Amino acid sequence: MSNATLDRAVKEIADEMMKRTDRGEVASYIPELARIDVNSFGLVVVDTNGHVAAAGDADTPFSIQSISKVFTLTLALGMIGDRLWERVGREPSGSPFNSIVQLERERGIPRNPFINAGAIAVTDAILSGHQPKETLGEILRFLQFLSGDSSITIDDAVAASEQRTGFRNAALANYMKSFGVLTNPVDFTLGVYFHHCAIAMSCRQLALAGRFLAHSGRNPSTGFLVVQPERARRINAIMMTCGHYDGSGEFAYRVGLPGKSGVGGGILAIAPGKASIAVWSPGLDANGNSELGRAALEILSKRLGWSIFGA
Ligand code: GLU
Repeated sequence: MSNATLDRAVKEIADEMMKRTDRGEVASYIPELARIDVNSFGLVVVDTNGHVAAAGDADTPFSIQSISKVFTLTLALGMIGDRLWERVGREPSGSPFNSIVQLERERGIPRNPFINAGAIAVTDAILSGHQPKETLGEILRFLQFLSGDSSITIDDAVAASEQRTGFRNAALANYMKSFGVLTNPVDFTLGVYFHHCAIAMSCRQLALAGRFLAHSGRNPSTGFLVVQPERARRINAIMMTCGHYDGSGEFAYRVGLPGKSGVGGGILAIAPGKASIAVWSPGLDANGNSELGRAALEILSKRLGWSIFGA
């Protein structure tokens, strides 16, 4: 596909999305996120050759929230490998992102690394043997390295806002601690979790950071192998089945690409062998996934024939 074809598709989809009025609701349970303008919209696609097609608010940093869980999972697998799966499962949850009920039924082992409980268990695994500050620094440096952009930072106001109001996450963490699933002090693990969710990135930075997942673990521009091909394939599989909470089936049905959403309204989607895509529109649907982000990806994937399930 020529650069011009991709540029045109991205621009036309962004233009269409910017006109839409059915934008969903901005997350308000983290007070600081409620201040974001629901009319923001950004879309960036980075293809195999490193061509960047960008439109809308492509360079505005937003709170990546749960999209950070893709990168903490990658780090945790790098640190402890398959032992991670003793603490967290790999099955879709079919439950809201912050559900407590399922955790009780399954004796403190979260269903997958992308629901909140699972991501907190993953954060705990990365934290072991380190100070919270070191772990956060490592997560941040990993993202800066992947996107080739050292300006990425944590939005401390968002982290503080969630720390003040994150009672449900505290409940999940304490519950897992009672089963011995968490090994660090709960406050330390939650502190790191809230802060990595509060990392702010633009669509451009995020699409660049996701490139290794689209290209069998390697950044095709630098040739650097971030993870083995098998690991990239498996992370994509978890994104496909669990990346949108109990909207994961619908996302697979409509978009057909591995993806991970965050309540900040971002989605990172991977077209294996083709492109890494980031979209941001802060209005959410009832499952907490970006309403227009999904709509934009649905049109893009259909128009370019990128669904992994066929054209
Ligand atoms: N930090 C958010 C929370 O734990 C992440 C949720 C999300 O992005 O889905 O509630």
